[in-house]
Amino acid sequence: MEKRILGQTGIEVTELCFGALPMGPLQKNLSIEENSKIIEFALKKGVNFIDTAEMYRTYEPIAMAIKNTGIRPVIASKSNKKTYEGMHAAVTEALEKLDIDYIDIFHLHAAREGANAFEVYSEALKCLVDLKKQDKVKAIGISTHSVAVTRLAAENDLIDIVFPIINMKGLGIIDGSKEEMIEAINKVYSSGKGIYLMKVLAGGSLIGQYTEALKFARDIESYTSIAIGITSIAEAEYNISYFSGQNVPSLAASLPALKKALVFKGLCKSCGKCMTACPNNAISFDRDKKADIDKSICLTCGYCTPVCPEFAIRIV
Ligand code: SF4
Ligand code: SF4
Repeated sequence: MEKRILGQTGIEVTELCFGALPMGPLQKNLSIEENSKIIEFALKKGVNFIDTAEMYRTYEPIAMAIKNTGIRPVIASKSNKKTYEGMHAAVTEALEKLDIDYIDIFHLHAAREGANAFEVYSEALKCLVDLKKQDKVKAIGISTHSVAVTRLAAENDLIDIVFPIINMKGLGIIDGSKEEMIEAINKVYSSGKGIYLMKVLAGGSLIGQYTEALKFARDIESYTSIAIGITSIAEAEYNISYFSGQNVPSLAASLPALKKALVFKGLCKSCGKCMTACPNNAISFDRDKKADIDKSICLTCGYCTPVCPEFAIRIV
């Protein structure tokens, strides 16, 4: 599989990045051993880039796969902690649970923040700068659903890598169109920073249009890698074949059924915590003041599930 350098970081990654969100507790909730086997398969097939996050809770299977294969991939993680101490603890946890001395990329996990993201995360960013000086973090990034933040990241000297949302329907972009996001992505690229793309399949909702959705993303050209969430060996094999330019097996046999986020309204206590956590503003109260998910904009990311004290939201 083709490898490219992320901006000016010197970090060389495969075009396919293994997205470790959907296999974990927020979505499919496979066991550590099952997830490790899938990651091991991908690593042995040449995928060298894994994207995870503090919130995804998938450090353990990644560590197990590294141990079992002896292959150390490039790892990107992220945290939404906004204080210096909080970010320091998040990176420390990543290093400990992944059993590594340094992490290649650590992002400000700023999915739902708008134009003031760098003010909101200023202390956390200071922490990442200090950890980079100590060689605990090799490159600093920001993950975002915002056109404004992507543009600002292009101008921020402290940011090495940007991880924006983009897909052919523009789903999940909180403040602009897909055309505006592509323009912002190209600005990031022109500034010499690394860029890899998230949610090109819109959290699985474009899975029936896989080839078309991937062609849209790959036509952007200024990206380095594309993160695809993977939850089985069949999905890993399918994506690896596609990115290697090989004939791909049957879509129906390889790719998962569409996911959806469901609220069990009888359990909902109307606290509103899920609304604050949703990066897409997809949740509102219905007329009975129960959480209600707008499926036309929900990306089934699962960020709302762990914050619900009543366990009222499930990804099925
Ligand atoms: S409703 Fe939940 S699963 Fe859907 S986009 Fe919002 S946080 Fe993600
Ligand atoms: S977090 Fe849970 S209990 Fe609170 S509003 Fe959302 S679904 Fe209801």
